[in-house]
Amino acid sequence: MEQPIILHSDMNNFYASVECLDNPSLRGKPIAVTGDPDARHGIILAKNYEAKKYGITTGEPLWMARQKCPDIIFTPPRYDRYIQFSQAAGQIYEEYTDRVESFGLDECWLDVSESTRLFGDGKQIADEIRGRIKHELGITASVGVSYNKIFAKLGSDLNKPDATTVIGQDFKEKIWGLPADMLLYVGKATYAKLLKYGIHSIGDLARSDPSFLQQLLGKNGIMLWAFANGLDRSPVSHTYSHRIIKTIGNSTTTPRDLTSDTDIKIILYILSESVAERMRLEHFYCRSVQISIRDNTLASYERQGRLRIPTCTAQAIFEKAYELYQSNRPVNPVRSLGVRACKLSYMEYRQLSFLEHAAKDQRQEELERSIDAIRHRYGHYAIQRGIMLMDKNLSHLDPISEHTIYPEAFLKSQTNNTVSPNG
Ligand SMILES: [Mg+2]
Repeated sequence: MEQPIILHSDMNNFYASVECLDNPSLRGKPIAVTGDPDARHGIILAKNYEAKKYGITTGEPLWMARQKCPDIIFTPPRYDRYIQFSQAAGQIYEEYTDRVESFGLDECWLDVSESTRLFGDGKQIADEIRGRIKHELGITASVGVSYNKIFAKLGSDLNKPDATTVIGQDFKEKIWGLPADMLLYVGKATYAKLLKYGIHSIGDLARSDPSFLQQLLGKNGIMLWAFANGLDRSPVSHTYSHRIIKTIGNSTTTPRDLTSDTDIKIILYILSESVAERMRLEHFYCRSVQISIRDNTLASYERQGRLRIPTCTAQAIFEKAYELYQSNRPVNPVRSLGVRACKLSYMEYRQLSFLEHAAKDQRQEELERSIDAIRHRYGHYAIQRGIMLMDKNLSHLDPISEHTIYPEAFLKSQTNNTVSPNG
C-alpha cells in the first residue's frame, strides 16, 4: 500500500506575530502577549523571537519576564483576531485537501495523499502553503512533511520560522538523536520517568523493550514506542471548521410550561451541564454567559453577563445563567430556555490564579471532569444533581444524546434557532 502524505503546519509565534502585524510599532521589539497585565499573577501566553532572545518562556510570570528584559512590551490577547487568522489559514489549507484536522488555533494536520497529482509532492505542497500564508496573511509558518501525523508534527518543530522539514524513511538518522520529549505526548512527567531508566532520545525509546515501556507507562508506553519507530497510522480527521467555534450553546423547549424557580433551575442546570461538558471536551473556557428565554406567548429575548474568571464548569455557568434569569424575569410562564457560553478561549491559555474564587472554580472543574469520566463509562444517569430528583419529568433528559448542541459552525444551517451566533 502506498504511504500517505501528511503535513503539519504550525504558524510561528502565532499570537505575537498577529500583534506585530497589526501594530507595526511593535516590530523588531521584544513583545509578549500576556494574561491580564495588571494582575499580579499574569503570565506569558506567547512571545516573539526578540523576546525569546532574552530567555523569556511561555507560562512564566510577568515579573520574571520583566526582570530578564526590562524593555519588554506586554500586550493583551485578542482572541477574535486570532480566530480570524486561523480561519483564513483554514481556507488556504482546504484548497489543497478536505482532510484538515486542527490542533489549537495555530496548528493543523493535512492529509494531501490525494492531492499530489494536482499540486506536486508533499514538499512542494508544503512550500506553496507556507508561501501563501506569508503573502496572504503576512505571518510565517513551519511545515513538517511525513507519512504519519507524529513525524509531521515533529518536522514542523525542527526548523523555525518559515521552513519546510521532510521526515521520510530516513527518520532514524534524522530524529532518533533528538530528546524523547520532542515527541508529541511525551510530557514532563513521562520524560522524567524515561530519563530515570536511561531513555534520553527518541532512538532510545524506539530501541526499548515495548513490554518494559508498558510496565512503566501503561498503554501509552506501547503507543510511544510505536511512535518512535514510525508506526503511527492515525488518520487525519475532517475537523477544521468544527474547531473554529465562537460560542457553545444548548437550548430546549420543555415538556410543560415552567412556572416555579425550581423548574427554571432544573432546566438551566441541565443546559449548563451539557454546555460545560462540551467545552471541556473541546478544551475551551468561556468569559461570559448568555441566556435566551421564550415565554408561552412566543415572545423571546436574550441577556448576557460577564464572568469574574474564565470557566468551563457547569456550576459557574449555571450561577451566572440563573442570576441573569432572576434580573430579567419574564411576566408569562416560560416555554423555552437556552444557555450559551461566549467569549471562548483555549484551555492552555487559562490564567493561573491564586484568588480564592478561582481556586474554588478549579476544584469544581476537577470534580466535573471526574463526573465526565464516570458518565463516559457508565452513562449519563450514573450521576445526578440532587435538584434533578425534584421533578423527574423535567430532568429526565440526557442533554448530550437527546438534544442538539449548536456550535457556531452549525448555526448557519439552523434557521429556527433564535440564538445569535456571536458572543
Ligand atoms: Mg505555533
